[in-house]
Amino acid sequence: MVVIHEIGHGLVSTLLGHPAQMLILSPRKDKKESWGNTLARITRGILSKKDLDDHIAMLYGGIIAEEVCDIEGSAGAGADLEEAGSLAAWWVDSFMRKQSVGRANLIGITDAHHDSWGLHPLPTESLRRESEKLIKKLLDAAEKMAFSALKKVGKKKILKLARLLENKDIVPRNTFLKYCKKVGIKFPSK
Ligand SMILES: [Zn+2]
Repeated sequence: MVVIHEIGHGLVSTLLGHPAQMLILSPRKDKKESWGNTLARITRGILSKKDLDDHIAMLYGGIIAEEVCDIEGSAGAGADLEEAGSLAAWWVDSFMRKQSVGRANLIGITDAHHDSWGLHPLPTESLRRESEKLIKKLLDAAEKMAFSALKKVGKKKILKLARLLENKDIVPRNTFLKYCKKVGIKFPSK
């Protein structure tokens, strides 16, 4: 179910302090999006390790929302996991090469490097093994973060929200926040 999947992305990013710009709930005819038809967009690029962790957690949000709501068969897990894996690999690679990723902008990176990511194999086997471990650690932590965030919201409220949003194509941020409030989902104030 696309609505629940996208709500998952939107909730996780908003709960982690990055209000989703909008939820796109219907296939977009104008663009072949590599992210799939739908995306809860985070407005800021990735500036820090926390942003990276949050963003990867947001990517897991779709699948986790389905899991929390006991829905079988995902509405976009493949692309999300691929993206999460690429981001984690990119970060770990940069980290291991002691490169600064300071001002890198997530959207720019996604557009320019989605297929290639410009990653070259690390020079030694032990570095490669270490990098794989770090990537897995990063992904596992983000998945856990998404799970605990959505578990706290709970199946009941997610389903209620899905019912309110299910006939909409695009849900702008303020509408999303309004409906979240309506079903009793609270976000941390910054
Ligand atoms: Zn998704």
